[in-house]
Formats: sequence, C-alpha cells, structure tokens
Amino acid sequence: MEIINKNLIKHQSYIDGEWLEMLDGSTTSIYNPANQEKIGDVSSCGIKEINKAIEAACIAQKKWAKVPSKEKSEALNRLYLLMLENQEDLAKIITYEQGKPLLESRGEILYGAAYIQWFAEEAKRIYGDIIPGHMSDRRTVVIKQPIGVVGCITPWNFPSAMLARKMGPALASGCAMVCKPAPQTPYSALALAYLSKEAGLPKGLFNVIISDAEIFGSAILKSSAVRKLTFTGSTATGKKLLKASADTVKRVSLELGGHAPFIVFDDADLESAIDGAIAAKYRNSGQTCVCANRIYVQSKIYEKFCEGFIEKVKLIKTGNGLDDDTDQGPLIDENALIKTKKHVSNATELGGLIALGGKTHKLGGLFFEPTIIKNSNDKMLVANEETFGPVAPIFAFETEREVIQRANNSPYGLASYFYTRDLAKSWRVSEELEYGMVGLNTGIISSEMAPFGGIKESGMGREGSKYGMDDYLEIKYISIAGVDD
Ligand code: NAP
Repeated sequence: MEIINKNLIKHQSYIDGEWLEMLDGSTTSIYNPANQEKIGDVSSCGIKEINKAIEAACIAQKKWAKVPSKEKSEALNRLYLLMLENQEDLAKIITYEQGKPLLESRGEILYGAAYIQWFAEEAKRIYGDIIPGHMSDRRTVVIKQPIGVVGCITPWNFPSAMLARKMGPALASGCAMVCKPAPQTPYSALALAYLSKEAGLPKGLFNVIISDAEIFGSAILKSSAVRKLTFTGSTATGKKLLKASADTVKRVSLELGGHAPFIVFDDADLESAIDGAIAAKYRNSGQTCVCANRIYVQSKIYEKFCEGFIEKVKLIKTGNGLDDDTDQGPLIDENALIKTKKHVSNATELGGLIALGGKTHKLGGLFFEPTIIKNSNDKMLVANEETFGPVAPIFAFETEREVIQRANNSPYGLASYFYTRDLAKSWRVSEELEYGMVGLNTGIISSEMAPFGGIKESGMGREGSKYGMDDYLEIKYISIAGVDD
C-alpha cells in the first residue's frame, strides 16, 4: 500500500500493547478487490492469544475505570486528532482493502473520528441521579459504572468507522475491548490499534485480533470475564451470537442488516428526491446497511422520477477507488457479485425491466454496473432481501396507506426514507414507519450526534448521541440509611 506513514501498516494482532510475533506460518492474504492484487499477509491468532487478550483487557479495564473521566477524555481526544492527522493514509488503507472511492474513504475517517470526539466529550457527562428517600431516613443514589470487558466484532463495509463507533463509547465509559475485524479488511482496524498506542491508551485496553470467526466468537462468548458483546454485521450472524451470549448472560448490542424503503410521494421535490435516492442507494456500491433497497414512487410521478433518476445514475463512473474520478468501486468479493447478479436475474424473470446496467461492468472482476429496475414488484428477491449491491428496484404505489403497509412488511427495521412537502403527512409517515431511523427529505441520515440503530431484526442498542453511552454502562443504586438525626 502506497501511503506516507508506513507505521500505520501492521500485519500482526495487537494484544496487551504489543504486536504479536508472526506465528508459525498461519497467515491470511489480503487482496485489493479492485484488481485482486495482494496487499499483504496478516498472521492469525488462536485460542491461546485470544485468552491472553481477554486477561490483559480485564487487568487494564480495572485500572482504566478508575482514571478520572477528564483524563479518559483527553486520551480519546488525542486519538481523534491522530485520526485527522493521518486521514489521507487511513483513507487509502480503506480503499486498498475495501474498494470504495477515496472520497468516500476520507469521509469514513472523518465520520469515525467524529464518534471518538463526541464520546471524548460524553466521558465527562456520565451523570447519576439522586432519588428521594422512600423512608424519612433514606436517600437513594444512582451511579453508572462501566460494564467491563467488551468483545467486539465488525464487518468489512466500513472497516474503520464501525470500529471507531464502538471504541468511542466503550473507552469513554471505562470499558476495555477485545476486537475482531472482518477477514477481508484487517488493516484499517490494525491502523486504529497503532494510533491508540500513539495516543497513549494504556496497554491491554484496546486489543485487535486477527482470527477465525468461530474461534474468536466462541472464546469471547464462553468467557464470563467478557461482560458485553457488540456486533455489527448480518442478521443471521447476529442471531447466532445472541443465542450464544445467553450462557453467560452478556449484555448484547447488535447493529444488523437493513432493507430500507425509500418512498417518494407525488408532492415531493423531485430533484431533491432523485439526488437523495442516488446518495442512499449507490454509496459504497450499495454495500451499506442503510442503503435504499426498495424505491417506492407514487404512480402519478413514476415515469418522471425514473427518467430523471436514470439520467443522473448514468453519470456514475465506475472504477478503481484510488483513481480521482471514480464514483463507484468494486463489490467486496465473489459472493457479493453472485448475490447481486441473482437479484437482477430474479427481478427480470418476475417482470422487471432493466432501465440501466444489469450486468458485470466492462472492467470485469468485481465491478457491477449501476443498475435500475423498473416495474418492480413485491414477489422479487429485491423486495424481500438486502441486495448489498448497486441495484435500484423502483416500485409504483397508489396510496399512503398502501405504501406504509408495503414498506413495513419486512423483518428488518433499520433505516427508511421518504420525500414529501406535506407537513401533516411528514408526521404521520414518520410515526408509522417501523424503523429505527427515518430520513425525511434526505438520503443521508447518519451522524455521531444521532442514535444510530435498528428495531425488529435489525438489532438492538444505539451508537452515537447521548444515548450511545448507555449501552456500555451498568446502573447501580446505593440505598443510604440513617440520614435522620
Ligand atoms: P457477517 O457475515 O455477519 O460478518 C460480520 C462479522 O462477523 C465478520 O467479522 C465475520 O467474520 C464475523 N462472524 C461471522 N460469523 C461469526 C461467528 N460465528 N462468530 C463470530 N464472528 C462471526 O456480515 P458482513 O457480510 O461482513 O457484513 C455485512 C452485513 O453487516 C450486512 O447485513 C449489513 O447490513 C450489516 N451492517 C450493519 C450495520 C448497522 O449499523 N446496522 C452497519 C454495517 C453493516 P468472518 O467473515 O470471518 O466470518
């Protein structure tokens, strides 16, 4: 990888403040999805190293919990500043291993760093409560304390930000972390580990482990010393981990799959709705959990919307994310390509019309054309499953009641979007959509200041905002007797 600060490139796991020596040949090769060139080899850990990290985290956490919150805040702020200082290199690492265009990678670093900064501030605001006594001699004091050691598993689609979003609240609240990044994208997480050391975070507090998922998952979930699991990934994996967390009754936060509806009512500002749909659909080649997966357009404006949408999507330039003029990079791997193709062929078999794209891009490899499918219907796979590719199926609808029923007809409940200029409808539809997040007249909704998260099978817990800290804190009360004189 061609970057300036070569120290950011690490090939070993980071355990108890040390980079693990290369083990006996147990390495995994990492490839750039844009051209299949090898980026490097990372060494894998086994159960022994994972347990060592858990032990180190236990020791570090006990000490860290006692560090004044102002000092915790300062350490996190140093990490924030280091992320900004290294933004360009960190962004390049994302693009090399994940494929997204550099512009998006730079945005991902700023987005992740913003969570570190936000929670650096929140560290100073972990307030408790004083409850009036239930007897004349009593007072009840409520305090909040860190949960303890947190196991953390992240996906490949935002290899830096999904980890930073968890590091911020976990470390600010006084927890320690044992983390496993996705196998396709370990370098972004290892770079954050390097910066955590540079920022002066104590050894053992933040550990990043390259390991087989099953081995890591079972070590973390069996350990009674690990008090919480935070996971971002697919709903299928999240369900498995949730079940396995029951044995030690761990606190669990899950950020899982989405299947976002994007609704355009006929009173919408059409230009703005088209721009919003493009932003919500094609970012990261359609590989985000909040991607618009189903675009519903009211029948009166259906053709006009499609015309404008097609014109603008035609301008998206597909290519290697490291090239300055690239708008859309490759898919992450062969499985992603297979799923995307399957969704398109299923849609055409069931009556969909390919209005744009529809096949592997002429660049070949893992590149897929930005695709639009008109005349989409509810029987298609695209109407029922997360595609995770650059495919926009457009459905026609007649009434508000009908579209809400169709939008909610999903086990997922992460993001949703709608466009209207009617105030009463804005309230009604926002309240009716069974989703954790609603974008009203916008296709971009995420910020460190808002509580990101889903309902139904899209997960539990929130990341960001003042609510984000609660996921890493226990509530304790102290009942004080004998206050009467
Ligand atoms: P995934 O297959 O569930 O993998 C996510 C992570 O879990 C990877 O590190 C994976 O490692 C690990 N994993 C899988 N099985 C495991 C097990 N039994 N024990 C421990 N770890 C295990 O998901 P993905 O395909 O990488 O990510 C895409 C999904 O993430 C999409 O569904 C997307 O919507 C969701 N997502 C949600 C959010 C959100 O905030 N709600 C954000 C981003 C992405 P291995 O690959 O080694 O198995």
